Amino acid sequence: MPFAITQTCCTDASCVSVCPVNCIHPAPGEPDFGTTDMLYVDPRTCIDCGACADACPVDAVFPVERLSASLAGYAQLNADFYANRPVSAAIEGESPMFHDWQQPAFTRTLPADMAPLDVAVVGTGPAGMYAAQDLLLHTSSRVTLLDRLDTPGGLVRFGVAPDHPSTKRIGESFARFHRHPRVRMRLGTEVGRDITADELARRHDAVVWAVGAPAPKDLDLPGAELPGSIAADTVVGWYNGHPEVPADAVDTSVSRVVVVGTGNVAIDVARVLTAPPADLAGTPVAPHALAALRAGAIREVVLLARGGPDAIAATAPELRELLGRSGVDVLVDEHDPRIAESLDGPAAGDAHGLLRGAAREKIDWSVPAERPRVVFRFHSAPERFEGAVRVQGVQTVDGTAIPAGLVVRAVGHRGRPVPGLPFDDDRGVVPNDSGRVEGRPGHYVVGWIKRGPSGGIGTNRGCAAETVGALLDDAVAGRLPDRASRPSPVHSMLQRLGRG
Ligand SMILES: Cc1cc2nc3c(=O)[nH]c(=O)nc-3n(C[C@H](O)[C@H](O)[C@H](O)COP(=O)(O)OP(=O)(O)OC[C@H]3O[C@@H](n4cnc5c(N)ncnc54)[C@H](O)[C@@H]3O)c2cc1C
Ligand code: SF4
Ligand code: SF4
Repeated sequence: MPFAITQTCCTDASCVSVCPVNCIHPAPGEPDFGTTDMLYVDPRTCIDCGACADACPVDAVFPVERLSASLAGYAQLNADFYANRPVSAAIEGESPMFHDWQQPAFTRTLPADMAPLDVAVVGTGPAGMYAAQDLLLHTSSRVTLLDRLDTPGGLVRFGVAPDHPSTKRIGESFARFHRHPRVRMRLGTEVGRDITADELARRHDAVVWAVGAPAPKDLDLPGAELPGSIAADTVVGWYNGHPEVPADAVDTSVSRVVVVGTGNVAIDVARVLTAPPADLAGTPVAPHALAALRAGAIREVVLLARGGPDAIAATAPELRELLGRSGVDVLVDEHDPRIAESLDGPAAGDAHGLLRGAAREKIDWSVPAERPRVVFRFHSAPERFEGAVRVQGVQTVDGTAIPAGLVVRAVGHRGRPVPGLPFDDDRGVVPNDSGRVEGRPGHYVVGWIKRGPSGGIGTNRGCAAETVGALLDDAVAGRLPDRASRPSPVHSMLQRLGRG
């Protein structure tokens, strides 16, 4: 029986490099790799060796016969990806086993006499860790890893939902590198507050900025500042035990929550807030959040979207999981004729196609939900948040009033300016060329601060490979700032500051 890739795939392609028959696609370098939600195993050519399952950092790969009921559909989904793609016999006389696709290459060639580099990596989220991993595995560089928080991991630790423990497990594979003999960890050290970018640069050959895109995008609407209107990051930080989010940041005494947005973060919030607490017990959910959800009254989350179902922002795996849950209804509010037109028409993508399987109903918002439910309301952007002293509901552009005690703004993120580096205010990123910061030799960016807030954990692997490639090219070509002028290493300085 072949293997199949399932919901938690983060497209880091670790499985691709170990598959002996090249049957996992799209692979790095192939046209769809940058946009795919997940990778797929070709069941026609899989030889059942299990190497992919061993290599997968998030437990996304299983033998088809061992798929749980909720993941069973992934066997067909993997097969469907290859439905119109032929296999060909690459070796004459042998059975068709190899694809015409080329084997992916994961190599890095450097001069044998290259001196070890001292590189500072600012941020221990996926982008910083993939960059550090690339440097440690392919060069003799020494890496200083800095993070403003005392706990490393970035959004793997404080973003990924607690009911996705296998996705969180990728943090364990990153943590192996925290203990690498050529790594110095400097946690609780905020660059810009505890040490300047210039000081850091003077003490290293290069600085790789992997600081993410931590600022929630604003919703400039009347009432957005009312108590009870909160950013999705607050909810996410609350259920993940982020040290800067108070334990009482989310009011769970309300019965209906409106979430503005339909992206993966909006779906995470809807799923966790409506989850039976028993399902969250035993996950890494913050104890205060679990206790508040147990004692709370949330029965319904309404997801508001400006566009129609064909413009849903969530990826297919997230939506499939939401639709497959038992005990929580998922409905589309059929308040507008365009919704049926869209859902009965051709699928504009995998997620749109999945939505066509959801129940539809014209919702009466004056009636509280009888059973726990998540409702998608399309063509219904918020116009203002209602309430005198705290949020009591949302008025939508189509003239509907939806009573709600909590409104969560999940409309995306943007980067924050990094002191000492240029900043593109329109895109919310540090302007760069393949990771090289414009006009600042020796400074590089990777991850969400480099390309903007899109792409899952694994996307940062290829992104880091490009940035580290640029850094090493510059090192080989002598384009890094002069090493001879460096004063003492950063840890001595931080020790003087009492943070070493
Ligand atoms: C809520 C949420 C849930 C997600 N869930 C998933 C998921 O389930 N699966 C998936 O594949 N992808 C998921 N993603 C996407 C994934 O988390 C991102 O692709 C990834 O985290 C981006 O990595 P990064 O390293 O650029 O940023 P981050 O992960 O944000 O890391 C940035 C790090 O830099 C540190 N830092 C910032 N400024 C400084 C400074 N000045 N000095 C020192 N340190 C600093 C921060 O503390 C942080 O540790 C999710 C994203 C969000 C927002
Ligand atoms: S089980 Fe082996 S052959 Fe099949 S996809 Fe995984 S690595 Fe490739
Ligand atoms: S998470 Fe990575 S290793 Fe696991 S299936 Fe997806 S691409 Fe392969």
